[in-house]
Amino acid sequence: MSQTPLSTRNLSVTYTGDRDVEAVKDVSIDFAANRLTTIIGPSGCGKSTLLKSLNRLHDIQPNVEISGDVLLSGESVYDTDEPAPEIRKRVGYVPQTPTALPLSIYENVAYGLRIHGEYDSKTDLDGRVERYLRKVNLWDEVKDRLDTPGAELSTGQTQRLCLARSLAVEPDVLLCDEVTSALDPVSAETVEETLEALKSEYTIVMVTHSMAQARRIADDVVFLYLGNVVESNDVRSFFENPQNDRTRAFIGGPTRIDADSTAERETPPTADGGERVPTDATEQTASER
Ligand code: ADP
Ligand code: MG
Repeated sequence: MSQTPLSTRNLSVTYTGDRDVEAVKDVSIDFAANRLTTIIGPSGCGKSTLLKSLNRLHDIQPNVEISGDVLLSGESVYDTDEPAPEIRKRVGYVPQTPTALPLSIYENVAYGLRIHGEYDSKTDLDGRVERYLRKVNLWDEVKDRLDTPGAELSTGQTQRLCLARSLAVEPDVLLCDEVTSALDPVSAETVEETLEALKSEYTIVMVTHSMAQARRIADDVVFLYLGNVVESNDVRSFFENPQNDRTRAFIGGPTRIDADSTAERETPPTADGGERVPTDATEQTASER
């Protein structure tokens, strides 16, 4: 049976205050199962705001108004009796800056399982911790020091630890906000490879500011501009045959995606490990805001 695991329907998100900011405007997207959808767009266009609305992360902020809806397996995540922590267990979130809990490596992964009481025995818990550390390609690096503090890991390892922590409670959907942007290029590549391996099992929604990264690992692309969806399509159509002038300007014109995209990895990254954003798009955002 195939049902869209996650959708938004006319979703708008406004930060209220002295001056209201409608950061997401009337967005309706279906995120397909077992595919990785990237959300791209210039800084400030609402990518993080949209992502956080998908598992009710704005609930903890008082100045956010949400209209429209988010559907998880067809059911509203807002108009429901299901508590937000349960929603967040089904829709995991990995932030831009990875942070280990002040616990051992083992307990960082076991954390959610202990909270939700979802294991039968110590052996079962051990097995799950190992399974998810393997899934994120971290097991071999940490298996001999599971009792040491998670805080002692490198940033790249911590990001994979955070991924393992999210996966351990067996979510259906994984939300990732620029999860490689704080990492050195080698660690970023490892995390990217991990996400690529995971995408056949999970529905992944990933915000990225790097178009090269979107090309490398996305199945589908959503281009957000000033809170609106300008264009969304499968990755090949999006980059090779963009339909909208704004998209063409942002991606710098249609470009072919090679089946073997390894050559793209050789593009020198900018100082922040990202990719050049066309200045026209960035400047328009700044002036139109
Ligand atoms: P992106 O992730 O694409 O860079 P954001 O979703 O962070 O964009 O921000 C979208 C818009 O909402 C921006 O104009 C930003 O300044 C504004 N914004 C983000 N967070 C808040 C907040 N907590 N309060 C008020 N405005 C916010
Ligand atoms: Mg952001």
